[in-house]
Amino acid sequence: MLTSIAGESVVVTGASKGIGKGIARVFARNGAKVTIVARHGAEAKAAAKELGGDASAAIADVTNLAELEKMAKSAARRNGGIDVLCANAGSFPQATIEDMSPEQWDEVLATNLKGTFLAVKACVPYLKKSAAGRIVITSSITGPITGFPGWTHYGASKSGQLGFLRTAAIELAKYGITVNAVMPGNIITEGLESLGSEYHKTMAASIPLKRLGTVEDIGYAALFLASKEAGYITGQTIVVDGGQILPESLEALKD
Ligand code: NAP
Repeated sequence: MLTSIAGESVVVTGASKGIGKGIARVFARNGAKVTIVARHGAEAKAAAKELGGDASAAIADVTNLAELEKMAKSAARRNGGIDVLCANAGSFPQATIEDMSPEQWDEVLATNLKGTFLAVKACVPYLKKSAAGRIVITSSITGPITGFPGWTHYGASKSGQLGFLRTAAIELAKYGITVNAVMPGNIITEGLESLGSEYHKTMAASIPLKRLGTVEDIGYAALFLASKEAGYITGQTIVVDGGQILPESLEALKD
């Protein structure tokens, strides 16, 4: 049984839908005061209303430090500080190297990689004051471990997050802040829905547990990394993928 996260102030970026909303839901269900961050206010507010309790919404683009600093300040004022940051916001538009423009590359890196740095930068002044500051980054298996056509920019951004976290973990250790990442496999979200049912079917067939993940599967891993019991774990990653990275070939998946 993990120590309760009840009453702690948790900021989740990209939480109006998908994995971020799942993470926020798991924390809210366990009594945390959650701040849901996204660019579109109406969706963020609707998610906060759906979660109920102490959940609230804040508008910020993770590519904009001033917006993130404003968000962090108001979250800290409202909830008595910030104990946990889940840096989750990200996007995954597909484009092959031949079709991708430099601007498309920059956009994905700006949201997924620079956005992680900026969210951490904006929240660190408050996390430093927490008795057990925690940063949980949403990376991916795509990039650090696997590859998929159309996602060179995405894979680079998700690998980059892991490079960032290893040095961030050392820099922030003196404040008692831990920095870890969850690496989801294929998780059913609004973002993934857009890739179509054929994508879902093929992916499910390549996963030993024979299903795509749920957003709560990621939420529980994030909750563990944010717990007091995980206080001696820093600079590490947890793959949450139903065993997707395990098979050496399709032969390995035959019954
Ligand atoms: P999603 O369903 O598309 O949701 C993305 C969320 O991020 C939304 O709340 C969106 O709200 C927000 N967002 C996007 N750009 C933002 C920005 N610039 N500033 C602030 N918020 C922003 O995506 P998802 O599938 O849940 O993915 C979430 C994270 O999990 C990403 O980091 C992704 O790389 C990672 N991941 C997903 C999967 C998967 O299978 N789904 C697998 C591995 C890793 P607004 O549009 O209102 O800003």
